[in-house]
Amino acid sequence: MALHFVIIGGGPAGNQAATYAARLGAKVTMIERDIVGGAAHLLDCIPSKTMIATGGAISFSHRIGGMGLVEAPPEVDIESLVRRIDGIKEHMRTDTTELLRSQGVEIVMGSARFTGTHTIAVDTAEGTRTINFDAALIATGTRPRIPDWCQPDGEHILTTRDCYPPKVFPESVTVIGSGVTGVEFVHMFASFGAKVSLVVSRQQVLPGKDPEAAAILEDDFLSRGVRLLKGARATSIERVESEDGMPRVVVRCDDGRVVESSHAVLAIGSVPNTDTLDLAAAGVEADNGGYVTINHHCVTNQPHIYAAGDVSGKLPLSSVASVQGRKVAEHVMGLHTVEHRHLDYDKAASAIFTEPEIADVGLAEAEAFALGRKIRVTKVPFATTPKALINNDPRGFVKIVSDPATGVVLGGSIVGQHAAELISVIALAVTANLTVTDIVESLLVHPALAEALAQAAE
Ligand SMILES: Cc1cc2nc3c(=O)[nH]c(=O)nc-3n(C[C@H](O)[C@H](O)[C@H](O)COP(=O)(O)OP(=O)(O)OC[C@H]3O[C@@H](n4cnc5c(N)ncnc54)[C@H](O)[C@@H]3O)c2cc1C
Repeated sequence: MALHFVIIGGGPAGNQAATYAARLGAKVTMIERDIVGGAAHLLDCIPSKTMIATGGAISFSHRIGGMGLVEAPPEVDIESLVRRIDGIKEHMRTDTTELLRSQGVEIVMGSARFTGTHTIAVDTAEGTRTINFDAALIATGTRPRIPDWCQPDGEHILTTRDCYPPKVFPESVTVIGSGVTGVEFVHMFASFGAKVSLVVSRQQVLPGKDPEAAAILEDDFLSRGVRLLKGARATSIERVESEDGMPRVVVRCDDGRVVESSHAVLAIGSVPNTDTLDLAAAGVEADNGGYVTINHHCVTNQPHIYAAGDVSGKLPLSSVASVQGRKVAEHVMGLHTVEHRHLDYDKAASAIFTEPEIADVGLAEAEAFALGRKIRVTKVPFATTPKALINNDPRGFVKIVSDPATGVVLGGSIVGQHAAELISVIALAVTANLTVTDIVESLLVHPALAEALAQAAE
């Protein structure tokens, strides 16, 4: 009889595990309480990128003046933008559902919790159903973190998930949190013409990222009139009525600064969806923050129960969740004993969809210095490539970090147009241990932004 593999959560981690395990011969049941495709994926990631793409088109319209065209600022049609976001979301939900069903995966809509080491109860619209399993995957993701000093109302005080589809465009907005999500929100609202303030707890936006990349982003924000409140932590957010009867939001910071705007968005991280799972009933351990503890095969302390995706507390990226899901399926079906490559989280590429885009992978320059590791760093500005000039956007650079002795590519960062696409070349080099010469001797397209990669590899 086929092994029964039950997956809780239908996001990128759950979907990959389900389709791959089914293809390998498992009987797969997937339980999802909200939306097949994943709540964080389809309600956060995809809508945010869709709005940023529209915002990018607006920004581009401000640059066409230098391309022999007369500038004519576009007008936002909010209804069609909302239809576009909903359309993409629905398309992805339907595609994912059809793919799962075509592989024979049973989908159960409901909320799951463990009732034993081999049993799960699912609260569905028709009542509670008990499902037995041989192996299970916890892929329940995360949700926005809400601090005790603030109560989002879904109208003016928002979490990231309240922003899509936008009910109204904020006339002014204060974003709390200057990590990846926070800066993407700043970029998005600023592109749509809102007056934006950003509360930055440190002295640099994107703490931990390449300071040169962060500096370019800060310059872009300042040039668009974004107010940066550096070295400040928000301590309260309050909704007040103004004289004209319109609600306003007052954000107070620990250094005494106060910002008033029509809206505020909290972008201060997330918490794992494990609180209602009754992990104890299955004997599964989690850390103090509620993230499920896993080994390099994504196995929990229970050998037949796995965790993958954001709930595993590794890198909160869709791409990482998907590959973890695939690795889980391999392990469940015993393939890891034949051929297995461990996931190396240090080699995950990531991107920030601001303007310019910022992407990086592997060893960062600052990290190498902190480790006392000898590296060679080469940097080429896009302004030296014909394509950047043709595109009328010479901002940014390509930086490659390599081993001075062997030439092996260890990492890199790219700031500029299409950085999220271009980083794939460096990511592949890092994963496959390619050398800078491999990149230099690739016969690349001309004129293309990728030529800056070859120059940086010289
Ligand atoms: C604003 C924002 C932008 C982002 N942008 C990007 C990006 O550009 N690129 C990128 O790679 N990543 C991005 N991410 C991160 C990405 O969305 C997540 O890393 C990814 O969705 C994680 O996948 P997952 O499968 O772990 O979780 P999810 O996609 O959240 O799926 C988990 C599912 O489990 C379900 N579930 C939870 N509890 C239960 C239960 N008890 N019973 C049944 N079902 C349950 C949930 O309903 C959910 O659908 C972004 C995140 C945010 C918040």
